[in-house]
Amino acid sequence: MKFADLGLSVELLKAVADAGYDEPTPIQAQAIPSVLMMKDIIGIAQTGTGKTASFVLPMIDILAHGRSRARMPRSLILEPTRELAAQVAENFEKYGKNHNLTMALLIGGVSMGDQIKALEKGVDVLIATPGRLMDLFERGRILMSGCELLVIDEADRMLDMGFIPDIEQICSKLPSTRQTMLFSATMPPPIKKLSDQFLNNPKYIEASRPATANTSIDQSIIHVAPKAKRSLLYGILDNDGVDTAIIFCNRKTEVRDLCESLRKDGFDAGQIHGDMDQGSRLAELDRFKSGEINILCASDVAARGLDIKGVSHVVNYDIPWHPDDYIHRIGRTGRAGATGIAITFVTKRDEEHVDSIEKLTGMKLPVRESSSVKPEKKQGGKKPFVKKTPAEPKADKPKNQQSQEPVADTSKATDTNRRPPKSAEKVMKPEKQPSKPKLVEETDDGWNGPVPGFLDAKLNR
Ligand code: AMP
Repeated sequence: MKFADLGLSVELLKAVADAGYDEPTPIQAQAIPSVLMMKDIIGIAQTGTGKTASFVLPMIDILAHGRSRARMPRSLILEPTRELAAQVAENFEKYGKNHNLTMALLIGGVSMGDQIKALEKGVDVLIATPGRLMDLFERGRILMSGCELLVIDEADRMLDMGFIPDIEQICSKLPSTRQTMLFSATMPPPIKKLSDQFLNNPKYIEASRPATANTSIDQSIIHVAPKAKRSLLYGILDNDGVDTAIIFCNRKTEVRDLCESLRKDGFDAGQIHGDMDQGSRLAELDRFKSGEINILCASDVAARGLDIKGVSHVVNYDIPWHPDDYIHRIGRTGRAGATGIAITFVTKRDEEHVDSIEKLTGMKLPVRESSSVKPEKKQGGKKPFVKKTPAEPKADKPKNQQSQEPVADTSKATDTNRRPPKSAEKVMKPEKQPSKPKLVEETDDGWNGPVPGFLDAKLNR
């Protein structure tokens, strides 16, 4: 199958070729022709399958005809988090560069004035997190009656974060004749109910079995005593051909401690978790993406949706409490056709979690013997670490320099991706005056990082 067989315009085919894609992924091949035929879609697809392009590409062609009107967005994409919204906006820019569509990003924490101005001018594509969208709607700043195309992305995560009531409200404000697409990695009953209620005779597309982890990921579990986890991890990092790794822990304090130990022992490690301020999180992610560091210790804040290329290993230092999180965590490796390795540490108390993951994925997780991992190298304290990913030469700086601001000790707190209380969600920090406009979010998943200035972006820049 070729992109040219899917019915996309010449301009889009050019943008796709410029993006370097040879052929559509299975979800794209199945979804794009149906979306172009204005059908409702339920897409069961995990991240890394190319699902974003499966709705963004046909939307661009559909929206190419027609004009936007003030305060009446022509299409709406709902994303659970600010950084996912930003990623979709990036996709729109990339694929829509040969079109003349306007886009606005509505996410919490940004000065509402700018967003209102963007809406007043009229936008073709509105990408929003549900909280901010409802806020502006309740203030009478958005009219949903012109919105004929709706995408609910990462629906299962919306559920986790408590957004379903907001989504129900939003759906009820849109024209009933609209086209709706719903994407989710899994299909728990409340999402099924939502789709029954708001989709009209949808085409059901399954890029892979629901919740089946990507087959290009070599998955295994290793039984280990809690106290032996650290040396097992070091053995893997030293001897298992790790280029880049994300190490997931269930608690923020564990993320922090592990990262500090790794740095002390000479690894180029960074961290990302819910206690860090926005700048530190994004800076850390950038360092990882650029190859400046090759190990990222992370909580589930980083588990879903982020498109970080070329991660060779995902290590679940702690097995996730929710089986869905397992799918999302290991989805950080094996992206878009590349192979990856996912290793999960399992202690005696974790067997129940292994069962629920196996039930959800429908596969037995192969057990790897801990003895198959060569012990860590003993090099008299610090480990010599040879970075394998290309990185810009960096200025001399102390090896263990901490770039993060001090964070509060929340040793009891867990770091799941659950929605913060409503009261917390609506709070807006006064904006500092950054030199470049930054979008700041402090809602949704607690992600507070700046994002590129997509607000009211012209797609053909
Ligand atoms: P997604 O599942 O939408 O997060 O996409 C995962 C990654 O796959 C992104 O880096 C996309 O740029 C990339 N991608 C999307 N479609 C294709 C394709 N047809 N061929 C190769 N890579 C793709």
